[in-house]
Amino acid sequence: MDLKLLQETLERAGEPAFRMRQIWEWTARGASSYDEMTNLPAALRETLASEVPLSSLELQRTARSRDGTEKALFLTRDGRPIEGVLMRYRDGRRSLCLSSQSGCPLTCTFCATGRMKFGRNLSAGEILDQALHFRRTEPVDHAVFMGMGEPLMNLDNVLAACERLPDVGISSRRTAISTVGWIPGIERLTKEGPPVRLALSLHAADETLRSELMPVNDRYPLPDVLDACRAWHEARRMPVFVEYLMLDGVNDRYEQALALANALEPRRAFKVNLIPYNPTEAGFQGSTRAAIDAFKTALEEHGVRATVRLTRGRDIDAACGQLAARQRAAA
Ligand code: SAH
Repeated sequence: MDLKLLQETLERAGEPAFRMRQIWEWTARGASSYDEMTNLPAALRETLASEVPLSSLELQRTARSRDGTEKALFLTRDGRPIEGVLMRYRDGRRSLCLSSQSGCPLTCTFCATGRMKFGRNLSAGEILDQALHFRRTEPVDHAVFMGMGEPLMNLDNVLAACERLPDVGISSRRTAISTVGWIPGIERLTKEGPPVRLALSLHAADETLRSELMPVNDRYPLPDVLDACRAWHEARRMPVFVEYLMLDGVNDRYEQALALANALEPRRAFKVNLIPYNPTEAGFQGSTRAAIDAFKTALEEHGVRATVRLTRGRDIDAACGQLAARQRAAA
């Protein structure tokens, strides 16, 4: 929902200030039309229905995975493709994976989004509208900025969206922003809050290898990124989640686990999440399950907390790194 357009329309109609809040409350609770907003005058509902679309995104297509994961492909008003994902877990958790940009200007070699054309930053409304789309089908309680784009390159809009997510049912502590290590953004999160979680896509402790995998490492080298993460941890008192993609024969050797463990001081500031590689056109092979387990054990033996990420939605290209917003010719 374009909140600015809503505000302007309400002002033009001479509506009292509390209307804005009323409408947002309905929307945040999953209303799918103005007709449901029974405490608004009928005439106003009509005006809004014709002048302020409930969503700034047009749904193009949805896909549903065998594991219950759902992916939605949207187009923005100016025709930019973006994807959002809802993950349903057996314990009842409902987690959203949100995009912050259409495409991504960074070129991480293993990621499908990095291979599509960069479009632009999404507005706060476009970010929220992904969440609201899924909220209209069921309650949601977690969100990760792990969809398309680098959220810390669009931090104003990401934070504006984060401010409203609690109304949708997702508290700040259940919201995580994932970054390649965009230092200015980490520093701003350290100074300003809000109490959202921080995740770092690390993927290789060795500088040369990391630069090969993630060219952004030349601009913001890992040691500096880790310093920024430590400062964030000191300020926020929450661990930084370290994401480490497991690539067969590339970054999954024992010595590489040790190098990672060495880099993650102090231990309390970090928690590692090992990510099974999801196939893209990049031509990498994912590590075997045995290699992932051995890597995890090596980390744990050195006092580093580590878990393995549960892969969701791979059969519909909705898993980490697979969002490329491919549109069918007919779309
Ligand atoms: N730009 C941010 C937000 C995107 S998050 C970031 O990179 O952190 C997407 C997560 O999925 C990142 O940790 C990314 O490194 C990971 N990822 C990318 N490609 C992947 C793939 N093919 N398989 C599994 N994870 C992947």
